[in-house]
Amino acid sequence: MADVVSPETRSRMMSGIRAKNSIPEMKVRRGLHARGFRFRLHCRELPGKPDIVFPKYRAVIFVHGCFWHAHECTLFKWPKTREDFWKEKIGNNRIRDLAVMDELAGQGWRVLIVWECALKGKGRRPIDEVVDSCAEWLLSSSTKREIRGQHATIDIAIDHEKQGLPDDLREGTRRK
Ligand code: ZN
Repeated sequence: MADVVSPETRSRMMSGIRAKNSIPEMKVRRGLHARGFRFRLHCRELPGKPDIVFPKYRAVIFVHGCFWHAHECTLFKWPKTREDFWKEKIGNNRIRDLAVMDELAGQGWRVLIVWECALKGKGRRPIDEVVDSCAEWLLSSSTKREIRGQHATIDIAIDHEKQGLPDDLREGTRRK
């Protein structure tokens, strides 16, 4: 079925939807605030506009939608229509993610990614567990960490082969 809107318009619509204040993100924010952490939101001046920024801890948290970032988990599936459009769109998201990680690390920021599948779906974890993990990480000296759902794959490289992502993307992802 043909789309009613152009790819550009749809892309803009989609990016608007995923940009800010998703429910999973709100849950994490609320939990951390209740534990006494103070933060800024969607900092435009930082690479990748991180969702939650903790200047005191030189740390940022991204709450990543599993679809938009092609996470290897049960929440991600390649769409059956307009495959080329989605491959390019989501592939570009992943390439941008990697560049953003590098830039933030270069500026001395620590990065935590909370995947959507840790917060919703069959493999979700109790919200308190996720928030505790975030809090523990904030107080640690760890530079990079991810929190994922229970059904997410650890071996990222293998699944990318199945998904047909380009080679350079797989290489990039392996550096994690
Ligand atoms: Zn996921």
